[in-house]
Amino acid sequence: TATVAGVPVDTRHWIGGTRVASVRDATDSATAATFTDHSPIDGAPLAEIARGGPGEARAAVAAALEAFPGWAATPPAERARSLHAVADGVEARADELARVETADNGALLRSHRRGVMPRVAHNLRYFADRLLALGHDDFDTRGHTNHVSWDPAGPAVLITPWNAPLMLASWKIAPALAAGNTVILKPAEWTPLTASLFADITHDAGLPPGVFNVVQGYGPEAGAPLVADPRVRRVSFTGSVPTARRIAAAAAENLVPCSFELGGKSPLLVFADADLERAADLAVEQYDNAGQVCLAATRILVEEPVRDAFLGLFMDRVAELRQGDPRDEATGIGPNIHPRHIDRVDGFVRRALEAGAKAVIGGGPNTELGGTYYLPTLLTDVAQDSEIVQEEVFGPVLTLQTFPEGDEDEAVRLANGTRFGLAATLATGDRARAERITARLVAGTVWVNCFFVRDLSAPFGGSRQSGVGREGGDWSFDFYCDLKNTVTAP
Ligand code: NAD
Repeated sequence: TATVAGVPVDTRHWIGGTRVASVRDATDSATAATFTDHSPIDGAPLAEIARGGPGEARAAVAAALEAFPGWAATPPAERARSLHAVADGVEARADELARVETADNGALLRSHRRGVMPRVAHNLRYFADRLLALGHDDFDTRGHTNHVSWDPAGPAVLITPWNAPLMLASWKIAPALAAGNTVILKPAEWTPLTASLFADITHDAGLPPGVFNVVQGYGPEAGAPLVADPRVRRVSFTGSVPTARRIAAAAAENLVPCSFELGGKSPLLVFADADLERAADLAVEQYDNAGQVCLAATRILVEEPVRDAFLGLFMDRVAELRQGDPRDEATGIGPNIHPRHIDRVDGFVRRALEAGAKAVIGGGPNTELGGTYYLPTLLTDVAQDSEIVQEEVFGPVLTLQTFPEGDEDEAVRLANGTRFGLAATLATGDRARAERITARLVAGTVWVNCFFVRDLSAPFGGSRQSGVGREGGDWSFDFYCDLKNTVTAP
């Protein structure tokens, strides 16, 4: 057990309702295998985390399989009550969860406290209630009744990234458990802590052993054997495209359905008829979480005549943005996740500058703060086919391009001109234009004059290489269940 931000955290796996350490090998069982988790705030070591491998993966799948029949047979109303009890536990420990998450991933404490942790509880409650409201509209075929039911599929492996650890995990855990599946969560190795606290919360809420399991560790060591296990019935993954390819290949062996929420390179289209103040607000919002947001509109596309006016308003706002310790209320942008990630972000920026881009602001690490703090950056003079426009940077790095006055075709061409299709944001004062453009955009979500408004009833996911499938509302239940149609004669 480690103490992080004043909170005790058990750093072992949670398998079958017990805490399990990783064993390095069978002949040396006294030495538990671990890895060190560091804080992005100051690089300090936080905890030694159990380092899972094939043995822990097998044990967790076995536990989930054993618990499955009992949980699947638990009446929906009772499962829903259990999820509400877990949500109560999240609410009761929201401040602890927020402090630990901030120490672990460096996102703003105030947003964890006020936005994220309440949202985690909401995700649980939403899917608990939605389960009870799942449509049961029987229909008739020549006097025969068709009845559709959502049967839980079995053990589900959930693999999550570090940018919004518990939030993104809860978006999968809630529908999977509500539907009657059992779950094995493999959190990202850079942010393992809140998953462990969540395991305690499920235990305190009375979830039976094996219904919810956590395996800690690195992707290739702990994640790969989980997704390749033939006893697993669903894999839901949020993360990067290269990892999704590996997971898809492993799951294909067993013909296991996968849900993929992947990267993005989303555009923010600013038309000359837009409220430019609002457009500038939307642009600055893209630095949230130090740019580590899959949905971020990192490519700003502005109609030529308003470029300078828009840029002026943007610069006014950036001047107000304070970078620093994410636990400080006044901080607007904190650190990035890891020194290795900073090197990657900076590599993209260096190569763009070498290729002729200009940094209007930023363009390198924050030398005053050092470590993992990267300056909010805006690059102009970038070519559509350049790396900086085509590849996801996942840091506080935006690019600015323009399109000719009145040239909607060119705006759409630029907006759609990557291999991604997660989201798009439009700033325009013309509703008809918004409808015209939206119809032509390749994106799972389009926001018109807003950003990040996300209802759990709405389908969420990406097109092209931004993902496979949609989650949210009944789409989540469709994924985690085997649908069955029962036809009964009159
Ligand atoms: P990543 O793909 O490196 O890792 C994600 C998870 O996969 C981690 O838990 C990791 O341990 C695990 N993993 C790695 N290799 C594995 C393997 N072979 N088998 C099984 N699991 C394996 O991604 P990341 O760097 O942690 O996250 C950033 C990426 O996630 C970005 O591309 C971002 O856009 C994306 N993301 C997408 C969404 C969305 O909803 N679309 C949300 C947040 C983040």
